[in-house]
Amino acid sequence: MIVTVASGKGGTGKTSVAVNMALSLENVQLLDCDVEEPNAYLFLDADLQHTEPVYTSIPLVDQQKCVYCGECSRACQFNALFVAPQKLLVFPELCHSCGGCAMVCPQAAISWEKHRIGAVKVGFADDLQLVYGELEVGKPLAVPIIKAVKNKMVASKNVILDSPPGASCPFVETVRGSDFCVLVTEPTPFGLHDLKIAVQALEKLKVPLGVVVNRAGIGDRQVYDYCQTQNIPLLLEIPYQRRIAELYSKGIPFSTEMPEWREKFQTLFSKIEELTKK
Ligand code: SF4
Ligand code: SF4
Repeated sequence: MIVTVASGKGGTGKTSVAVNMALSLENVQLLDCDVEEPNAYLFLDADLQHTEPVYTSIPLVDQQKCVYCGECSRACQFNALFVAPQKLLVFPELCHSCGGCAMVCPQAAISWEKHRIGAVKVGFADDLQLVYGELEVGKPLAVPIIKAVKNKMVASKNVILDSPPGASCPFVETVRGSDFCVLVTEPTPFGLHDLKIAVQALEKLKVPLGVVVNRAGIGDRQVYDYCQTQNIPLLLEIPYQRRIAELYSKGIPFSTEMPEWREKFQTLFSKIEELTKK
């Protein structure tokens, strides 16, 4: 079973849900795909075992062959190439490694060089395997790191993916191939607004979904009404509770100190299994 935990907006408690669910189950791998801000490891005292760099390919121009015709620059949809008199400049941060420039070069002057954009780290917290990606500061391409994290997926395990917030490319890349997506929201107008966007994206991707309401008790009932009218299963409510907030602020997964929550997360996972059978 592959389950993504996502949220239309940041700060809803998505990582807390992913970590607590992972700690409540057996034979689990937790993949933190929120590579711009991976923080699942902060909740887990994981023993880091190894780190692998992640590279993309960027153009390497042979200035001896280049005739500065500008074909490559015109073909690049990302403005990653600039032809100056007797010089072709490459801007690695803008390059999406699409290969288009090399295809149109009449001089076969473009080859490729590796460009490091981040790393994938693997560790264990007891039996739980944690894999997380880290995008280097200033590098804009999260998707290749997310792919590298997902390449570490072990087929024999239940896999929980902690998605980047929002509904843009990093979220789409994370949730692609998942059996189910848990959308974590809070019962506020902001929560509802971003929940709707995430739901629309998942419907297009044809990934079944359910909702976890975090900080239940604040805000209003609009999220509940929306789920009911849209026939979206409400999987779990986590109350706005002092004890949970205190543990969160200390980086302690609340299910470890409040064992009744282990059962609730196990029930949550069982509900997901049931829903994916339908
Ligand atoms: S590989 Fe694609 S994105 Fe990168 S410079 Fe070439 S055309 Fe532009
Ligand atoms: S298309 Fe080839 S020859 Fe023309 S500017 Fe680009 S690298 Fe140089």
